[in-house]
Amino acid sequence: MAESLKKLLSESGVTLKKAYGQNFLTDITLLDKIAEIPGAKKTDGVLEIGCGAGALTSALALRAGKVVGYEIDERLKPVLSRALSGADNVTLVFKDIMKESMESVERRMGGEYFLCANLPYYITTPIIMRFLEDAVFLRSMTVMVQQEVAERLAAKPATPEYGAITVGVNLRGSAKIMLNVPKEKFTPVPKVDSAVVKIEIEKNKFAGADLKEVRNVVRAGFSSRRKTLENNLINIFKLPREKAAQAIERAGLKKGCRGETLSAEDYVKLTEAIKNVREDR
Ligand code: SAM
Repeated sequence: MAESLKKLLSESGVTLKKAYGQNFLTDITLLDKIAEIPGAKKTDGVLEIGCGAGALTSALALRAGKVVGYEIDERLKPVLSRALSGADNVTLVFKDIMKESMESVERRMGGEYFLCANLPYYITTPIIMRFLEDAVFLRSMTVMVQQEVAERLAAKPATPEYGAITVGVNLRGSAKIMLNVPKEKFTPVPKVDSAVVKIEIEKNKFAGADLKEVRNVVRAGFSSRRKTLENNLINIFKLPREKAAQAIERAGLKKGCRGETLSAEDYVKLTEAIKNVREDR
């Protein structure tokens, strides 16, 4: 199968670009498994980021009502039009996803949608964070990422993998590793193994919380892993020590705790407590 991809690319005069994270999948069974994960039906829309040679796009088009696929590399136009010749429910957008506003992306989706993508590794985290922070109509994200990133997304508190991005996920929903994918499954073969993670978005999770402010507190909590939460709050927010201690106590957290032991819910409570001690209530 990798051979036919190579043939298709060479016939179209395309050499793969490392800078765009072009490691393509060719295993049909694996592509089918990934395309199944969102659970999209014929009435649903799926957003794909980075269509490449269209292998995942085709598998998604068989299941969903419509697929909108972004691809930065216009050289892939002829490859994609051949691969998707029978799929009339696919709209391709040859643009850099990072330069497209969330409003434009979601306007194209026209309602609730699933994201499913084998992400370009050089912008995995910015893409995931952006959709976690700004997407309004997103139902779930099924993303192929490097193994190490997958472990961070789905980590448990107080483990080395648990970080600001894990809390970012848990503020909107929860993540689960669905498949481990050895590097040999890609063409060309990258340096590390990958995994498919599904992030389910829970509607109205922490409704009423100022999530932008909570994310600032999360960043402060993880700003120095060697320091206690109290010291990080003092350093980042310039809070007097007694106020930082008060906020930690009011949030129901242990004196001397570290940011990496807090759940997303703890961070929501802590944000509210910081606001209150600042207002001296
Ligand atoms: N979906 C294909 C597959 O599974 O075989 C290709 C996945 S490949 C890992 C990532 C794709 O994302 C590449 O085709 C690359 O050109 C594209 N890409 C890279 N940066 C992008 C960006 N900023 N916006 C849209 N697509 C991008």
